[in-house]
Amino acid sequence: MYAFTLHTRTHSIKSTHRAMAGKRTHEAREGKSDTPKCSNPNCTSGSYSLQSCARCRSVAYCSRECQTVSWPSHKAQCKRQNYIIKFHLCPGEVKDPEVIRTLSCPATATFDELHQALQVAFQWFSTHTYDFTIPDPAYRMPETLKESIDQMRLASMAQFKPELAATLPRQNLLRVVNPSPQMFVDQGSEPTRKHPNTLEKKAHQYKLFQFFEDQQYQGKQMVYTYDFGDNWRHQMSLEGRGPPTTDFKCVSAEGHYVAEDVGSPSGWEKLKAAYRTSNPTQQQKEKREWYESDCSNGEKEGLTGRENEVDKFLIDYVLGGMRSAGLTNDGRQNPYAGEN
Ligand SMILES: [Zn+2]
Ligand SMILES: [Zn+2]
Repeated sequence: MYAFTLHTRTHSIKSTHRAMAGKRTHEAREGKSDTPKCSNPNCTSGSYSLQSCARCRSVAYCSRECQTVSWPSHKAQCKRQNYIIKFHLCPGEVKDPEVIRTLSCPATATFDELHQALQVAFQWFSTHTYDFTIPDPAYRMPETLKESIDQMRLASMAQFKPELAATLPRQNLLRVVNPSPQMFVDQGSEPTRKHPNTLEKKAHQYKLFQFFEDQQYQGKQMVYTYDFGDNWRHQMSLEGRGPPTTDFKCVSAEGHYVAEDVGSPSGWEKLKAAYRTSNPTQQQKEKREWYESDCSNGEKEGLTGRENEVDKFLIDYVLGGMRSAGLTNDGRQNPYAGEN
């Protein structure tokens, strides 16, 4: 996909980036007046005790009156700041190297748009379904295979007998669901994630700021799960706020992207092991062959010496222009594109 066609652009993106970084340090050295002033140009109070505009945090006023007077002119520039969110793929399970992406996310983006951006950032192939959840801390994973099968059976029966649903253990407090789930591939696990006491939101309608500004979710950790079979859980943590943008931006990236359908973190570890050895077994040779020719996001050059390889600038390049043009991660028109 884009990895080949756009690769030549990365060098120029890198040099532009260096030039911009230099300019910022220069400005900081010259310095500007540190004395805080009320953002109402006609304010005469001279007070230095100021309150920032809660929405954009880019202006500050000495009083409610100054804010009210300034609102008609401030309104147009008053944009919510981006959320800087770190996504850590299966912490403790995917390691050497860990696979982490940090994105600057427009506050008005929907969770479906965030999903599209994450598919680019982790180079997933959109062949599976997803959700965003706040896990229920009281939930306990099934300990045996039998327990797990019993739970899945009960969950699929509950689809037809709703009175059974409440007897299932609740996995999540909140679930933000895919508007067009890939029901064929992930059908088996979908019902166990549903629960009458799990609040559901539609990913193409629910916006990031609606989640982050909701008091009941303050400080709660959210998880983005892609593929309910391999169960790729990306732990999300809010790292800070950034300047408002229309498109998502890649702040940092580490670790080569993981092979889709490799069979969960343990399968990924086995695939990497197959490339680390100079004397592969027959099974390891087959794994390499699968990655190089059959895996949906595999690469024909294999993984030897490339486990840390990730092109942050390329991710950023692809993200720039994606949401603003209402596109999905594979370049199609997104039927659920929100307004920018
Ligand atoms: Zn004032
Ligand atoms: Zn404002």
